[in-house]
Parts: sequence; structure tokens; C-alpha cells
Amino acid sequence: MNVIGRITAIPALPEPLKGLREVAYNLWWSWNPEAQHLFEQINPSQWKRFRSNPVRALLEAEPERLLALAENAGYVGAVEATVANFRHYLQTRPQKPPRIAYFSMEYGFHESLPIYSGGLGILAGDHIKAASDLGLSLTGIGMFYHEGYFRQQLTPEGQQREVYEDLLPEELPLQVVLKDGKPLKVGVEFPGRTVYVMAYKAQVGAIPVYLMSTNLPENRPEDRALTARLYAPGQEIRIEQEMILGIGGVRLLRALGLSPEVWHMNEGHAAFLGLERMREMVAAGSSFSEALEATAAGALFTTHTPVPAGHDTFPLDLVERYLDGWWNRLGISKEEFIALGREEKSYGPVFSMSNLALHTSRAAGGVSALHGEVSREMFQHLWKGLEAEEVPIGHITNGIHTFTFLHPELHSLYERTFPKTWAEQLHDPSQWTVDRLEEDELWRIRNKLRAGLIEEVRLRLFEQRRRNGDLPASLRAAEKVLDPTVLTIGFARRFATYKRAILMFTDPDRLVSILNGPLPVQFVFAGKAHPKDEPGKEFIKKLAEKIKALGLEDKMILLEDYDMSLARSLVQGVDVWLNTPRRPMEASGTSGMKAALNGALNFSILDGWWAEAFNTTNGWAIGDDRTYATEEAQDHADAQSFYDTLQYEIIPLFYARGAVGTPSGWLAMVRDSIRTCGPTYSAQRMVDEYHHKFYTPLAKRAAHLLENNAAVLKEVAAWKSQVQSAWNNVKVWVEAPHAAANQPLQLRAFVQAYGIPTETLKVELVVRRSSGDLEVVALKPSGQEREALLYTGTYLPARPGSYLYGVRVVALHPELSSPREVAFVKWAAAVVEEPVKV
Ligand SMILES: *Cc1c(COP(=O)(O)O)cnc(C)c1O
Repeated sequence: MNVIGRITAIPALPEPLKGLREVAYNLWWSWNPEAQHLFEQINPSQWKRFRSNPVRALLEAEPERLLALAENAGYVGAVEATVANFRHYLQTRPQKPPRIAYFSMEYGFHESLPIYSGGLGILAGDHIKAASDLGLSLTGIGMFYHEGYFRQQLTPEGQQREVYEDLLPEELPLQVVLKDGKPLKVGVEFPGRTVYVMAYKAQVGAIPVYLMSTNLPENRPEDRALTARLYAPGQEIRIEQEMILGIGGVRLLRALGLSPEVWHMNEGHAAFLGLERMREMVAAGSSFSEALEATAAGALFTTHTPVPAGHDTFPLDLVERYLDGWWNRLGISKEEFIALGREEKSYGPVFSMSNLALHTSRAAGGVSALHGEVSREMFQHLWKGLEAEEVPIGHITNGIHTFTFLHPELHSLYERTFPKTWAEQLHDPSQWTVDRLEEDELWRIRNKLRAGLIEEVRLRLFEQRRRNGDLPASLRAAEKVLDPTVLTIGFARRFATYKRAILMFTDPDRLVSILNGPLPVQFVFAGKAHPKDEPGKEFIKKLAEKIKALGLEDKMILLEDYDMSLARSLVQGVDVWLNTPRRPMEASGTSGMKAALNGALNFSILDGWWAEAFNTTNGWAIGDDRTYATEEAQDHADAQSFYDTLQYEIIPLFYARGAVGTPSGWLAMVRDSIRTCGPTYSAQRMVDEYHHKFYTPLAKRAAHLLENNAAVLKEVAAWKSQVQSAWNNVKVWVEAPHAAANQPLQLRAFVQAYGIPTETLKVELVVRRSSGDLEVVALKPSGQEREALLYTGTYLPARPGSYLYGVRVVALHPELSSPREVAFVKWAAAVVEEPVKV
């Protein structure tokens, strides 16, 4: 056939089933298994093939089957109950202020909509779902990739093959965004042409998420393909995709008539949104500096990468080519424009999207406490003169969407056991009354979930081997692999080298002796490597190779195509969730949170979230929180720790059974893990924290800047320009007589700062104890002397010890977002200088 198009029509649903359509088009079903079950029953044998996609289930339903279901009182009753739940959920979401736009390059809502690659996307999906649960007024912006992210196939040697599928929007829970009956379109200027962008709406509970696509007939073929794949390789397509996301995203929101107060950039990919917002203001008559202040005031940046090389950067010539004309639109020079993202690398300057995001936002954060610390050090150079801990980058530790990842059986146990209010107040630790969880009931369910996982592993392994053309004996073996009663350890994640999937093979003899010991243990592995990540792919092969070489194929299973569906099976079914990143490379990690929620115990490096969550009784740490001199030394120490803990603690505890066969010691740890991780690492806690710590204050300050004809905005912008132009000539020197031990330090600091309002100057004594604590003490303005402003103070440490100190002058304005918003800092030279005569 010469195909010219596609028609899709959902069959007319019999009256009693009409509500199914409403539910199918809202991803609310992705965290309501009873809703999914209704669609599954339409054609159970097809359901998995449709990747559990309700829209597809309706599209392909046989009318006779639907009629039969409409006659089935049980089914109709279940439809009615689910639809009533769904409507009740939507009606009871409050829509709290402020209005937020959330931008992300990827979203993981469900395996049937594969527009995510891993943790970042799942996190974005969970953020949206929790925002819906909490009733925030949030709108999501992202991309629809019509070939998605790849599906992974593995050869028996562990060689990864990437398979791309065409995703048909008509068969997904997406609706074309229309205006006057026609698809709504916006344009983004590219070199020599305009690229048009349309959007699909994914409704996620009460939150709309607009997914943009350039796959439109009016675009050139190469521009149509621009949104085909997530993280398509090549810098040119990356900058194009990011322009669509950032610039196209703002234009789409405007075309929809939306006016967000807060703009949240989930990772630097979205940072071009700041350019478009500033352009709007400059076009409406603002100066660039006012546009920058106003834009940044409402913007928030979440960074996810603890490695400098992980931050998105572009060559300057590429930026100059693609953003040609933008400096004119913003009323600045090309150099000033480039400075917004400029980053010096050893090989020369580049344009960093993270730097752009930081320059155009007034709130920024990492995704765990440790990652916040690493980020402050990494970006310290953008706040010259500040100590690392003063850099205004905070953190909010990630969380997971509870009902997306909690197994229904446990969900119902928790519901029966915890207070009635638990499901709506997941982030409140007092709701998680784990002591009331019956030991035998908990153990019965844990056994059932493990057995379910083993069954799933066998099915998947069978398929995998069949596809690889394995012999019948190998296929039969797949059906019997693993033991549903044996301690099961899971390891699944992106195969990036820093995740060290093969750490446990450091000492093969030791590993084999543990695995062949008297008490059995088995492993399941899964994970994708990015298509361009050759070392990551090599790791998968090495893993396959080592398993085979040690003859551990019966005890260590490597599964292909890690996605949300396999992730759920794993985190729900394993007993132990293993994570071995090289500290501090794991910004947060979230899969371990999913495992803990389901009653598995974490066994991990003290990195990311686990460095905060581990309390010695809710799981195990691998290694300690030291940093080693070399990677080899760290790998060796971590591997030893892994073997010892596994052999002497984990395995014996799992098999220490009481009179009725339950492992009480183990279950005590499971309870503690659920209690400590369930509420704190929920996306509800995370989004609530974003709401209070960032969204609400940002919206308030952004509005405050614009009050009274933007009086404060103009004042701050003018003050910054004034200080900026005068700061180079500021001089500071100190008379610091040598302080004898146990005597207070007597300080006299002199400042010459012509052209800077004196009331915005501050002189600070900065003291650092050798143990690391930082103390900042303001000196007192004490008039003038020797043609300079004099500041004085005395200092005696509160505790004995050895201290370093310095003195600096800073400029700060009371209307800044924080005292360290902008680093006007000058340190007094260590040598006592003679006053400068002017
Ligand atoms: C949760 C999840 C991740 C992220 O897990 P990490 O702990 O960051 O490795 C990645 N992929 C899938 C499919 C997930 O469900």
C-alpha cells in the first residue's frame, strides 16, 4: 500500500463503559493499578504487547468484547467505582498558587510513553504527579519524541543493540493542542529559516504537560526529524532541541494564554527559556538589566550533575550561528551575550547551559545534600570571592512518586495498617506507623513479590534467549532459572562507568566462594548504556563475560531493556537493592528509594540520597564516607566492604528464621527502612519542599520587584550597574597587629569605594577553623580616617583552636534575593598596605 495517512477511531463504547475513555486519556491511571486492570481485562493477552497502554487497549478492542463486558455486572461496577475515584481526585485538587511552568527535556510517566532515558526523566514525571497530588498550579513543558528513547536488546555476549520504534501519538494518551480547531503552532528562528512547533497535551492527574514536536509538513525533512529522538547525538541537534524546548516552550505557553509566575528549569537543557523571557521584556520597553533582574527573579534551576563534564556546553561558534540576532534583540553586545553562559575550559571557552541557567535564575539547587555541596564547589568560580559554602546553591533531595512504584499488595497492606489520612499525607512521618505491620503478613507479601519477580525474570529471559536464537535446552533452562525462596539482590541502572557495575568482581574468588557458600544468594542485573557511551556498553559486555567465566549463569541474570516496567518489577521483588557508584558521582539516585518503599533493603555506597538516609539499622553502607587518593584504592576498599557485609551480615540475617519461619531481625530492618525512607523520600515531600522553599518565595519576590511601576526592580538593576562599574577601583586594607595567643584580635579595616553607596558596603572578618567551620563577623563602620572609610572590630574565638582569617569588603543591597546573590567581593591583601593617596 502507498500509505498516505492514518485514521484512528476509538470504538463507540457501550453506555456503562463510557467513563473508560475519560480515564484512558489521563495518566492518572499510571499510578492507579485498579484502573489499569480495567483496561487489561479487555484483552489480557494483548495487554503486555501494548505495553499496558489503555488508549491502545481501547483502540484495538473488539466491539463484541466490549458488549460482553458491558453486561458483566462486576466489571461495570468496577468501572463505575474507578471513574468515581478519578473524578473525586480531580475535584479535590486545590490549585494552590503560584502558577509554575516546569521545563524538562524528558519525562518518565509510564513505560508506554518512552520519552525518558533514566533518572532525570522519571524524576520529572514524579514531580508532575506529586504536584498534581498536592494541588499545585503547575504546567509541564517537554518534548514528544516520535521515536522515543531506544529499546535495548542484548546478545548473549552482552552486546547492546538499540532499537527505535515509531510512536504514534494517536495511540497514546496524548491530544493535539488546538486553536480554532487547528493545531496550535509557534515558530522558532533557526539559521536561515523558521521551524514550526506543535504540541500534544498529556494530562497527568490535574496537571497538563505540553509535549512539543517539529514533525510538521511545513518543516524541512531534517527539521521534522529534530524531535525524533531523545538525546540524539551531535551538538547541532542538541542546541536545536534545546532551542525548541526553551524558546519554543515559552512561546507555546504564551500562545495558550498562560502567564506563569515561576519558571523551573529541570537541568540546564531548558535554560534558553530565560533568553525568550528577557526578549519579551526588552521588546516591551525594558532595558536589558531590568529584563534580566525580572526574569531571574521568578526562575529556579535544578542541577543534576556532579561531574563538570556532565554539564551541557556548546562551542561558541555554534552558539553564535544559532543565536545570531539575539544580542540585538536583547540590546546588548555579542560579548555580553556570550558572557551569560561563558565557561573557560582547558581547551578554550564554551557556552555552558548551566552557567546560563545560574545567571538567569535567583534560586538554584542540587538533588541531595552532598550534591548541593559538590555543586557549590563546582560553581564557586561564578561567585568570585565567596567561600564555597556561601555560594547560593542549595539542595532539595529527590523523592519518588509513592503510588507509581508501590506494589498494589503492599499498598493495600499499608492502607489497612496506617492511619486513614496516610494516602494524602505521605510526607508526614507520623503517618507511617510501621510497628503495626504484622510480621507474618509482611513476610508473606515479601515472598509473594519475590516469586512474582522470579516469574517475570524467567519470562523475560526466555524471550531474550528466543530472540537470540538459543537452543531449546537453553530456553527450557530459562523457565527454571533462579529460586523464589532465595535471597535476591537487584542491580539496575544506567550503565555509566562511574556506577561500577562490576565492582563485585574485583576479587572473583571471594565472590564465587560467597555465592557457592552454604546459604544461597542470587542476582538480577539490568540497565542501558547511552548509544554513544562506548565505555558504558563495554561494561555490559564485561559483566556478561565475567558471569560466564565464573560459571555463575544460574545465579546472576542479566536482563535487557530496563524501563519503568522492569524497574517496578525489580524494586518490588528484590530483597536487597545494590548501588555501587564512585562517590560523589551519584547526584541523588532514586531507584533505592523505590526499593525501600517496597520493603527491600538498600546496600549502597554512602553517596547521593543514601548518604542522608542511612542510619545503620535501615540497610547497609558499602565503604565509608571518605574520599580516596586513587580510584583503584577506592575500588579495592569498597569491594572488600561489599564482600564482608554481604557474607557476614546480609546473608546470615536473611536466613536467621524464627520458630514460624519468619526472619524477625531482617523484618525489623525492613520496617525501619520503610519508616525512614517512605515519607522522607517521597516526591510529595520533595515537591512540597520546592513549593515552600522556592516556588512561593520566588513568586513573592518577583511580584514585589514589579510593584509600583517596578520601583524596586529599577533600583536593584541601577544599583548593580553602578556597583559593577565602580567595583574595580575599590580598595581595602587592614591594620592587624599580630595577635598573641588568647588575646582578642583588634582589627581596623580601611575601604576606599568611590561611587558606591556607603550604606550598601559591608566589611567582614571571615574566620575558618582548621576543622572547616566558617564564621563571618561584620566589622563596625567607624567613621573616616586617612581618606578612607574605617571599619573596626575585635574577635576572640569562642572555642580554642587554630584559625585562619581574612577581611573582605562586600557590596549588598537589601532587596537582593539573598545577600550572596551577586559576588561583589574584594579581599584585603595579606600584607598590611600603606593607604593609597588619591
Ligand atoms: C528510578 C529509575 C531510574 C533512576 O534510578 P537511579 O537510582 O538513579 O539509577 C532509572 N531508570 C528507571 C527505569 C527508573 O525507574
